[in-house]
Amino acid sequence: MKNIGALNIPELCGNFDKALLQKAAAQFGTPLYVYDLDRITAKYEQLKLAFGGRKAMICYALKANSNLSVIKKMASLESGADCVSLGEIKRAILGGIPKYKIIYSGVGKQEFEIKETLKLGILFINIESKEEMLLVESCAKELGIPARISVRVNPDIDPQTHPYISTGLKENKFGVNLEEAKGIYLYAHNSPYLEPIGIHFHIGSQLTKLKPVSESAQKIAQLTHSLLALKMDIKFFDIGGGIGITYSDETTINPYDYAQAILEELRGLDLTIICEPGRFIVGNSGVFLTKVLYQKEHQGKRFVIVDGAMNDLIRPSLYNAYHQIVPLNAELQETTSADVVGPVCESGDYLGKNISLPPLQSGDILAVLSSGAYGFSMSSNYNTRPRSAEVAIEKGEARLIRRRENFEDLIALEKDYL
Ligand SMILES: *Cc1c(COP(=O)(O)O)cnc(C)c1O
Repeated sequence: MKNIGALNIPELCGNFDKALLQKAAAQFGTPLYVYDLDRITAKYEQLKLAFGGRKAMICYALKANSNLSVIKKMASLESGADCVSLGEIKRAILGGIPKYKIIYSGVGKQEFEIKETLKLGILFINIESKEEMLLVESCAKELGIPARISVRVNPDIDPQTHPYISTGLKENKFGVNLEEAKGIYLYAHNSPYLEPIGIHFHIGSQLTKLKPVSESAQKIAQLTHSLLALKMDIKFFDIGGGIGITYSDETTINPYDYAQAILEELRGLDLTIICEPGRFIVGNSGVFLTKVLYQKEHQGKRFVIVDGAMNDLIRPSLYNAYHQIVPLNAELQETTSADVVGPVCESGDYLGKNISLPPLQSGDILAVLSSGAYGFSMSSNYNTRPRSAEVAIEKGEARLIRRRENFEDLIALEKDYL
């Protein structure tokens, strides 16, 4: 059984202060997401510094946490954005990210999305198949706007992460293999409507080992050399995101080592590095607060029933992901093992299994740590549950950045059809 630490473990919780969280829960209600914007800033700066002195650009992967206030914070730090839908691109622009720092990725871009992004004039589109490239070309031709592109190359390297978040193996749906990539570049190079200016790989998420990253970078750098030899004007080397974080006791990739490993593989190539971190920036910068409703025991098993559920934070149910869970107002002595479960009608609805928790009372607040990434952004209205509110903490002050949904919000798109 994994043991839980106190809430002041710096790597996990930054400057979250129990009293402040308690106050936020009382003021804004639960379930509640709370993000520490100062910690988000620190993570961004840490990565930026790791690439210090090199031409490098950080494009925050919006899908990890796309709250507009979080995006606005990233924009203020001069971050770019990695987006996987037209909706995310519009969010990035609304949040203040300049269009020329926006990248459009994803395996199933649709024609209207491609056309709109061409009109917007973003940095480039990451191509994921030959067919998609042909569609981008025809859209570019129709609009008379040449498309800047990059090709997502699948290096067929095992990232050693959870199968659901592995993306760089040949059995994964993402990107094209090295051979096919070359063909796409050759075609694009000869098309008046396509400008291949970048090369891209992203092998998975929650990466904790450096070797798969450097091996991938090596393969992609080799391909880049051959493209440059063919006089292609490749300017951007996009290494994707995926840097893992600590949820319990994982040792993760040090940003400095990460940058060094990439730079090592890029020797002799004068390219701008693009890095697309999502989880690394926001994961440990957020907590999910939930209130104890009931407790029960059957056959010696202890259940703590809380007001947060899989619709709010699906990672435990979806990936069997582990999050530390700590009470805000109780000491961690005399703990026993408990499953922390939500009100949703699914046995898979849990936030944690075999979590050490002290005796609790109804009304106590539990903090589910490291919930800033793929938390709210993956939430749903399953069981007609309004999605949680979101709060930002900055310089010791908490403020609402998304109000809690209400019943009216949930039926708004249906009620006129009765
Ligand atoms: C999801 C994704 C990212 C971000 O992944 P993290 O693991 O959150 O850093 C970056 N780039 C692409 C193309 C992605 O699909």
